[in-house]
Amino acid sequence: MSKPRVAVLGLGIMGGGMATRLLSAGFALSVYNRSRERAEKFAQAGAFVAASPREAASRAEIVISMVADDVASRSVWLGEDGALAGAEAGSLFLESSTLSVDWVRELAAVATEKKCEFLDAPVTGTKPHAATGELFFMVGGSSAGFARARDVLSVLGREVVYLGPNGSGALLKLINNFVCGVQAASFAEAMSLIRLSGLDREKSVSVLANSALASPLIKRMLTAMSADDFTPNFPLKLMTKDIGYAIHEGVRFGLPLQTAAPAFEVFKHAVGQGLGDQDFSAVVKSVGKK
Ligand code: NAP
Repeated sequence: MSKPRVAVLGLGIMGGGMATRLLSAGFALSVYNRSRERAEKFAQAGAFVAASPREAASRAEIVISMVADDVASRSVWLGEDGALAGAEAGSLFLESSTLSVDWVRELAAVATEKKCEFLDAPVTGTKPHAATGELFFMVGGSSAGFARARDVLSVLGREVVYLGPNGSGALLKLINNFVCGVQAASFAEAMSLIRLSGLDREKSVSVLANSALASPLIKRMLTAMSADDFTPNFPLKLMTKDIGYAIHEGVRFGLPLQTAAPAFEVFKHAVGQGLGDQDFSAVVKSVGKK
């Protein structure tokens, strides 16, 4: 069977890697990015660079969006030249950005009106996983849509899990990321306490790196700190956004996320210090600083 034509909207850290992966797997690919310069290199690799999400979607049976937040997602799907205006009935839409559940459900309803299939399919994994097909997809939507998406998702991901109706993938992703945010914020405080107390930094870091707290996430932070390299794999401002969306979900269920709230403040403070475009691990540079 021939491969479906695919469009990728958003060619940032994650969308760019996913597009590269799809091209190397032989998919006919159209791409769109708000700032066109970022898309040009994909033309050299064989993709069609569309002038709008609408044009990209009109050339594809499967449309994947990987953009920053709810505002960006609304713009690429429902904006004036948005993907929904260009897509044929029967198209399959995959929204892989980390977004609020409210927005994902609203978008699913609009897609259904257009007789298209919509899945929320956010991911864990970061820049290298996107480029090598090692993402972990959490999928919400109809089981029929999931069956249609499997082939393309299995090229992009090492694991693809179907969770239930629209919004299920989005919600689990927010749960995952608020816990990551809480860990990162507490670790930033821990590093600050080590600094202020005069403990030997190198020895302290070595002890912590070999203790139970050294989750994969904390290990990433330790690597960034030791290299003093905060080039974004996962931008700090996006972690901040995710914690905020998760807090909103807690409120919906009458469960104030009491650990997420101060972590949100720690991350907002870091954004206020101009660290939003650095890797989330740069939060270690912000704690204890006005
Ligand atoms: P990124 O590198 O900052 O890329 C963001 C993308 O969104 C760019 O293509 C950007 O276009 C586009 N965008 C931003 N605002 C827009 C708007 N108003 N209208 C249209 N397009 C807009 O971010 P990323 O790391 O790839 O993350 C993408 C999504 O994946 C986010 O939801 C993030 O939370 C999620 N995610 C990220 C990671 C990670 O490790 N990085 C892991 C899992 C999930 P321009 O190039 O024009 O700015």
